[in-house]
Amino acid sequence: MVLSTDVRHYKRLPSWLRRKIPLLCECSTIERVIKKRGLHTICREGRCPNRAECYSKNKVTFMILGDICTRDCLFCSVKSGQPFPLDSNEPEKIADAVQELGLTHVIITSVTRDDLPDGGSGVYSQVVRKLKSIDQSPLIELLIPDFNGDISALRTVLDSKPDIVSHNIETVRTIFGSVRKGADYDRSISILSIVKDEGLGIMTKSALMLGLGESADEVLETMKDLRGAGCDFLAIGQYLRPGIKQIPVKKFVVPEKFLWYEKKGYEMGFLEVASGSFVRSSYQENDIRKFRKRVVAESDE
Ligand code: SF4
Repeated sequence: MVLSTDVRHYKRLPSWLRRKIPLLCECSTIERVIKKRGLHTICREGRCPNRAECYSKNKVTFMILGDICTRDCLFCSVKSGQPFPLDSNEPEKIADAVQELGLTHVIITSVTRDDLPDGGSGVYSQVVRKLKSIDQSPLIELLIPDFNGDISALRTVLDSKPDIVSHNIETVRTIFGSVRKGADYDRSISILSIVKDEGLGIMTKSALMLGLGESADEVLETMKDLRGAGCDFLAIGQYLRPGIKQIPVKKFVVPEKFLWYEKKGYEMGFLEVASGSFVRSSYQENDIRKFRKRVVAESDE
């Protein structure tokens, strides 16, 4: 889930969404390390509102397989179209960047590459293997696309044994098809259950964005579907329109409601739930720290 905001698209944001956004220095360490290697981040491409904060705390989510997506989700600001050829050195560049930044928890996502026979799963696997070869290798979290339902592509990723596999459901069943062209609600749910069925001890995570017109009952239904697929961690945040080309927000969800969903999530059995207006699947302040603690604790058992 990459939710972003450009306040120019709102006449008036509700008070709980108005906050001081720290200035983003284009010469920040992360910007420098990324640019030097020609890498991409979802933080920048997705116009994430947390970017300045995350970068100032040395947190970043890498985006592999290029910066052009073959899908065109209506809420997403990542460029859509015909992607460029893959950079065969990308796994090495990511590992170098991770070492230079001294990251202990690395989150990797990608554009969707329906044009590639393996959906880009081979590159995911190479990145994980490269990261594992680093001395004191970091915790590795992958936020993967649906690989068009190709199970062998998913297995390629799982065989590299990342610590966490995330796949974002993003929205409820009734809205899903209209905002996520080329994706399928049940297919996305099944990705999470396959990860668990493989029995590799990989933790799973998903994220939902609210404010697209979903009802509370539908949100609860989706949370149940995710739990039914064995999903361990859940992140819930507010959809904020990244730009004029993306669909408008239908509703700003009040903070109390986010807390209510968090409580419901724990009642359903999620190991960790992060729920709040600015929570993103890779927002490292609110959720990742506790997710990380949980993964480390589980692997020590
Ligand atoms: S929340 Fe995630 S996508 Fe947004 S800036 Fe932070 S790391 Fe990047």
